[in-house]
Amino acid sequence: MTHPAQPKASHFINGAYVEDTAGTPIPVIYAATGEQIATVYAATPTIVEQALSTAKEAQKAWGKMTGTERGRILRRAADIMRARNHELSVLETYDTGKPLQETLVADATSGADALEYFGGLAGSLTGEHIPMGEDWVYTVREALGLCVGIGAWNYPTQIACWKGAPALACGNSMVFKPSETTPLCALKVAEILHEAGLPAGLYNVIQGMGEVGAALVTDPRVDKVSLTGSVPTGKKVYAAAAAGMKHVTMELGGKSPLIIFDDANVENAVGGAINGNFYSSGQVCSNGTRVFVQKGIKEKFLARLAERTGAAVLGDPQDEATNFGPMVTENQMNIVLGYIEKGKEEGARLICGGKRADMPGFFVEPTVFADVTDDMTIAREEIFGPVMSVLDFDTEEEVIARANDTEFGLSAGVFTNDFSRAHRVIGQLEAGSCFINSYNDAPVEAPFGGVKASGVGRENSKEAIKHFSQVKSVYVRMGDVEAAF
Ligand code: NAD
Repeated sequence: MTHPAQPKASHFINGAYVEDTAGTPIPVIYAATGEQIATVYAATPTIVEQALSTAKEAQKAWGKMTGTERGRILRRAADIMRARNHELSVLETYDTGKPLQETLVADATSGADALEYFGGLAGSLTGEHIPMGEDWVYTVREALGLCVGIGAWNYPTQIACWKGAPALACGNSMVFKPSETTPLCALKVAEILHEAGLPAGLYNVIQGMGEVGAALVTDPRVDKVSLTGSVPTGKKVYAAAAAGMKHVTMELGGKSPLIIFDDANVENAVGGAINGNFYSSGQVCSNGTRVFVQKGIKEKFLARLAERTGAAVLGDPQDEATNFGPMVTENQMNIVLGYIEKGKEEGARLICGGKRADMPGFFVEPTVFADVTDDMTIAREEIFGPVMSVLDFDTEEEVIARANDTEFGLSAGVFTNDFSRAHRVIGQLEAGSCFINSYNDAPVEAPFGGVKASGVGRENSKEAIKHFSQVKSVYVRMGDVEAAF
């Protein structure tokens, strides 16, 4: 019997599901059981061509519609997503293995927020009037044209919406390629957008591995590429886009610092560290995986952390009582277990977790290492799993320098009750998305993105509009034209 997660077809192009079984089969494995629940096929060159040519053509009329008309469709799509939240959350759980307790509140809902927010902004995207004496300049905020979105596997619905919503609001079309690991959810986003009245061809989803992504990025018809992925992929995609002088947004990896001062509220700091390391089983780019704890509260912090982490409920992700799911794939599980072994070998002190959970599926126990030093592998490399490194520090100056000593710069957090210190420290941290007495909040109203190797550009908020549109300026002369000859 066909599993309910099996999509009608692999791709969604020009307003309809499209299949081409000549492409490489991509099995979809449910991470909680290891069973294959669906198959999609990588896009063949014919499929890539269909998606790009339809998106290029459809954009022309869409870009000419009023923002209010475009926004109405996006807001309708948001309503449909919310109405179908349960069904979409179940699918997100099959696609990623994340527990339903999370997906019910963090995925389709976050996608709907983006559709609603950018739908609301669409009608207000205007240029300005710049007086020049008798003359004037006016500016026009124009669409870029055809945008490509490429997703990572941790938030398939959210990523499809965070890229699609601002792109469409600004009058662009999109071809979106989900991660080959989680190909299911973006198809639903496309389906819902069209149900909401999006004209055919404006939001297309095609499947495939990196080579399909590369074919999209290098196509001369593409005006912009927005990637969510790892730093090595980001470097390749950025370089390929640069060769065609295309706009880019790069949302890449991180190894973010979470700094906890002696005067912090310990319960809140422990909560922040749990949210910033174990949500989605640690598969979150902005996670605060280097937890710097000032020496005065170190043992108290570790004791409460171990106690609360011990209360994590691992189990069937479709059971709403489960709050900690498996790694997305067997391969990712093995990578994470490899890092845990490295942590042990390099002398970090294991506080809790530290092994594969004794159950079916790709579960790794939530793991905390203490006495981690800056040079250990687990403190330097992005693990993308539930492995928290706790490091000690003495002074503010010292911790700022150590926090910044990384190629990454996605996020940073500070817990303290001294607000002057909170702002002083945050002001010196090299990171794009920061938190004071909190961690990992990502509302659509706030800009999201990294500095240094963690990325270029911003998603969400009004900032995203700048990255999906361009400004034309027009000088208007009222008098005669003076010329030298
Ligand atoms: P990945 O880099 O392996 O793949 C990302 C996407 O890029 C996939 O769809 C893949 O098929 C595609 N791709 C690979 N090679 C390509 C190429 N040469 N040209 C075009 N496309 C190509 O990343 P992943 O393993 O899917 O995701 C995990 C990574 O994503 C982590 O590093 C994580 O930090 C990062 N991430 C970042 C954010 C953010 O917003 N900053 C959010 C989620 C995940």
